[in-house]
Amino acid sequence: MDKDTIAAISTPIGEGAIGIVRLSGDEAIEFVNPLFDGKDLTTVESHTIHYGRLIDPVTEEMIEEVMVTVMIGPKTFTTENVVEINCHGGLASVNRILEYVLTRGARLAEPGEFTKRAFLNGRIDLSQAEAVMDLIRAKTDKAMNVALKQLDGKLSKLVTTLRQKLIETVAHVEVNIDYPEYDDVEEMTNNMLREKTEEVAVEVEKLLSMARQGKILREGIATAIIGRPNVGKSSLLNALVQETKAIVTDIPGTTRDVIEEYVNIKGIPLRLVDTAGIRETEDIVEKIGVERSRQMLKESDLILLVLNNGEVLSDQDRQLFEAAKGLEYIVIVNKTDLEQKLDIDEVKQLAGDKKIITTALIEDKGINELEDAIAATFFAGDIDSGDLTYVSNVRHIQLLQQTLNVLEDANQAIDANMPIDLVQIDVTRAWELLGEIIGDTVQDSLIDQLFSQFCLGK
Ligand code: GDP
Ligand code: ZN
Repeated sequence: MDKDTIAAISTPIGEGAIGIVRLSGDEAIEFVNPLFDGKDLTTVESHTIHYGRLIDPVTEEMIEEVMVTVMIGPKTFTTENVVEINCHGGLASVNRILEYVLTRGARLAEPGEFTKRAFLNGRIDLSQAEAVMDLIRAKTDKAMNVALKQLDGKLSKLVTTLRQKLIETVAHVEVNIDYPEYDDVEEMTNNMLREKTEEVAVEVEKLLSMARQGKILREGIATAIIGRPNVGKSSLLNALVQETKAIVTDIPGTTRDVIEEYVNIKGIPLRLVDTAGIRETEDIVEKIGVERSRQMLKESDLILLVLNNGEVLSDQDRQLFEAAKGLEYIVIVNKTDLEQKLDIDEVKQLAGDKKIITTALIEDKGINELEDAIAATFFAGDIDSGDLTYVSNVRHIQLLQQTLNVLEDANQAIDANMPIDLVQIDVTRAWELLGEIIGDTVQDSLIDQLFSQFCLGK
């Protein structure tokens, strides 16, 4: 375990104006104290905050007015001694403070190293560590809630319960094999085993079905707006952007430097996709043909297919329906302020069970209905963000899927009347896979890779 003291700039979410330099390690307090003109930080109580000035110990010039928080391990995020220097200056002064603590002997933290230490020191498990990362990147309140829940350990608890069930059956089988003379231990039959594995499989499946929503909250609904020229695609885009005031771009202080365009629809992030290099796809079908547009549209989670109420349906419109067939889409009949020329019956027929929303974007009409329709499409009925606990992470989804596959193998083996100790191999594997979610059976390299995705200073 590395015992050295690390330091980094760690700017809190949503408070870009305040800068924090954070240190963690045995000597965190000793490194800051000589720079601090105020109370003697080596004698203050844990979890207290102190106003003072940072001074250059050589020139004795003042660097900055600061608030310093002292937190003594093990009741800290990393379990180590933690010092946070808060200052109101911009990036330049935070950088300067960081330089000073580095000259005192602290080492610049690697990305995610604080969280990694928290994990390695047993303070949080891996799914919680990942939640920290999600929190940093959370784009909307709902996404934030999912991350907070995960940080709270909900996923860990569920996974731990499932693992417990699996390991109990494994143990039971082992006792049967190793101590056949123990008559009072009931013999585990294939049927009993099957009951258990199925029970776990059902739970894993539930988690997976929540995964889609969770993933959407994290990454946004990839959305393409399609329609013939002049139907109102740009107007729709503008309306969505305006309606939602907050377009989340990048969060300061994170490694995310790609600025994507997000629109917040009732707490759900809509990611406006740049299909074929043009966000709104002017006659995409015309340009690249139905088959290829289909391929491109498949990358979206949602298609908004815009029609013009003031014109008759054209072959181009029909081709758009063709291209969107089998995908998730909502039909928008725009320009309802104009005299209706569109054959609504034919539109209904083409749309089948897809929703049709009417708008007059020029009069700001229909946007709210559209937003409701979008929300309802992705969050049907019983699932609200409160339920949407936890599975929001691609790695978790993969592991759950693998667990499910292994459990299915186990069931097949049981049905084929394979010896129980063979079935047990699959059950053990399922237990290991679930363990990877909470970091119990993860290899070190994976841990390194995961933490290196973190932002500096977290
Ligand atoms: P795009 O080519 O599909 O992006 O369509 P635009 O959004 O650029 O709109 C084309 C024209 O239709 C513009 O002059 C808009 O002002 C107009 N327009 C958009 N929505 C409506 C509407 O609801 N009613 C009417 N009458 N005109 C609209
Ligand atoms: Zn346009």
